[in-house]
Amino acid sequence: MTNSQNPIVSIVIPLYNEEQVFDRLISRLDSVLNDFEYATEVILIDDGSRDNTAALMKAKCLSDERYTGLFLSRNHGHQLALSAGLAHAKGLDAIMVLDGDLQDPPELINEFYKLYKNGNDVVYAIRKNRKEGPLKKMAYWAYYRLQKSVSNFNIPIDSGDFGLMSRRVVDKLNAMPEQSRYLRGMRSWVGYKQIGYEYSRDERKEGQSNYGWKQLLGLAFNGIFNFSEFPIRLITKLGLSTIVISLIYLGDVIYKKLFTEEVVPVGFTAILMAIILFSGVQLISIGIIGEYVLRIFFQVKNRPLFIVKEKIEGGRISEN
Ligand code: UDP
Ligand code: MG
Repeated sequence: MTNSQNPIVSIVIPLYNEEQVFDRLISRLDSVLNDFEYATEVILIDDGSRDNTAALMKAKCLSDERYTGLFLSRNHGHQLALSAGLAHAKGLDAIMVLDGDLQDPPELINEFYKLYKNGNDVVYAIRKNRKEGPLKKMAYWAYYRLQKSVSNFNIPIDSGDFGLMSRRVVDKLNAMPEQSRYLRGMRSWVGYKQIGYEYSRDERKEGQSNYGWKQLLGLAFNGIFNFSEFPIRLITKLGLSTIVISLIYLGDVIYKKLFTEEVVPVGFTAILMAIILFSGVQLISIGIIGEYVLRIFFQVKNRPLFIVKEKIEGGRISEN
């Protein structure tokens, strides 16, 4: 079915330097659009690509009205590009979120939409297996479990942004003004009925991951600091336990000095160790507080989350 005027479902896909995989992505999407029985729009977001992605997108969106193109003014990062797409999605029933590198099969729209029809507001895809290297795999494994144990509420393990959300859930996300966005966490926060769907994550088809260790770490920090006061409480607990331990030690030293002949050994090494250890603890504590302060800093500036410099919708270009 083709009708981009009143789409029932939207498919939102952020793209950053994906010229190599673009044609394959489009041919997979075209067949999904042809087979799926409800009117569907695809929203492609060019996140300030430096390769030919924007030009390819432009050509496709101008020639096929089922495709809407958003062109951001510069690279805003995956989460903000996705937010831009969600803000523009018109799907009446549901909005599906997908990576552009074909690691997430678009064909799953059928299963996801069925689950939505069965009364689920969020269908989040769970990765059964990863095709990444062993080090990255281990890091992912550890991170998701750490995040689960510190988070204030349940953010599902091993699931990314891939999935489908109902109109009302996306409306809620769009209304959340947070600057540092960790959408899979915000999605869990919204609540309603959420269900996991296991799938095996494919390898990236072409090009290379835009998420280096630095970006992954940034995302991981958002996952923890945006949804948990655990780190800041940890500082208080560390401080309290240090005081308790040193009081016990102090009591022992005073007792020996007053009531026994024993000489308390004063060692340079011991003192040095204590200084080094606690300097480290203090620096990390300041860093943790800094993470929260930073988030406040960016939030109070209240800047728009993204800037769309150009939009192609219904085959027509509008600039901004
Ligand atoms: N992406 C984006 N902006 C960025 C980085 C990535 O829009 O700054 C897109 C990218 O084109 C892809 C998706 O986000 O569609 C996921 O990125 P990637 O495949 O590099 O991440 P990974 O799958 O390795 O975690
Ligand atoms: Mg990928």
